Amino acid sequence: MQLAPYAAQQSSSRGRRFAEDTPQYRTDYQRDRDRIIHSSAFRRLEYKTQVFVNHEGDMFRTRLTHSIEVAQLSRSIARILELNEDLSETIALAHDLGHTPFGHAGQDALNASMKDYGGFEHNLQSLRTVDKLEQSYADFPGLNLTFESREGILKHCALKNARQLGDVGERFINKQQASLEAQIVNLADEVAYNNHDVDDGLRSGLIDIEQLLEIRLFKEQFDVVTKRYPDLQDRRRIHEIVRRMINRQVVDLIDTTKTNLTTIKPDSIDSVRNHSADLAHFSDEMLEMNLELKRFLRTHMYAHFRVHRMSAKATHIIQQLFDAFLNDPKLLNPKYQQIVIQKEQKNAELGKARAIADYIAGMTDRYAIAEYGKIFNPAELT
Ligand code: MG
Repeated sequence: MQLAPYAAQQSSSRGRRFAEDTPQYRTDYQRDRDRIIHSSAFRRLEYKTQVFVNHEGDMFRTRLTHSIEVAQLSRSIARILELNEDLSETIALAHDLGHTPFGHAGQDALNASMKDYGGFEHNLQSLRTVDKLEQSYADFPGLNLTFESREGILKHCALKNARQLGDVGERFINKQQASLEAQIVNLADEVAYNNHDVDDGLRSGLIDIEQLLEIRLFKEQFDVVTKRYPDLQDRRRIHEIVRRMINRQVVDLIDTTKTNLTTIKPDSIDSVRNHSADLAHFSDEMLEMNLELKRFLRTHMYAHFRVHRMSAKATHIIQQLFDAFLNDPKLLNPKYQQIVIQKEQKNAELGKARAIADYIAGMTDRYAIAEYGKIFNPAELT
């Protein structure tokens, strides 16, 4: 596969933190992807929420299926733009590894609990997971991924954190961009969740087609599908609309980015990094339509009372677990208690709180609910 000069090339990789031989039959980026797929954090994405908590139904997206959708979109886009498909796939599969249970409610609750201990940010946690928390390899902590994969995983970062991260933090200080492979994953992430939230929202009955007709991106494709298939049954009709919405956004993204690349002509990954802004983006018109859809989802779906009730429960569970473990680490299972004690010896209260946050962030929705029951419900067995 021919790569464009602005793509990430194995030969110009900034390498791994711990030097390793190049694999025999794979590229380094393929190896990164394979390590992510074989990690335990990746398996746990199956039982972590996107919007709907796991037990609400088997048909909804989870973080795992979301990540696979992002990988699929990213690979298609990367291939057309002659970018490094393996690297984009790697970043996509890893981008949500640091998510807490219960989606954004979980992240906000853990961030609030960690307020006095440096805070909690899921994106930074994804990097921490691949750099430190996975413990499977004999020669190094974490997955020892290439710089380009780590750079792509860390899509945003507060300056105070960036200063402590070394090489991958530098771009936030120097105001540089990530690779194009990373840029398209960010946008593919957005395309994936906006559209699957429409699909899941309709399936769950939180939103309906009537409401969505106010939204241009939806209405355009609704008209196309209804004209062509006037008698289509609802589920198939929704699928036909949503797949066209995705296609419309992806084509816009590819066309706009291609035009940028032809105008600006970056000749290496470093010229992509040193450009004043991201080179991959939607057209202004699509940006506007996406915003409209996002606003709709925020008002009608994420703020829906049924979602809000679950979020309130999630917040309660995370807060209570954090406080309980912080006040009495002996409540933790012995294996994790050991880790918390070690971190506390190294870094006092800060170390202890961070180790507990790592533990909670790693939980699946159902594990967090079970732990809560075992600790706070006297009738439950421990
Ligand atoms: Mg995502």
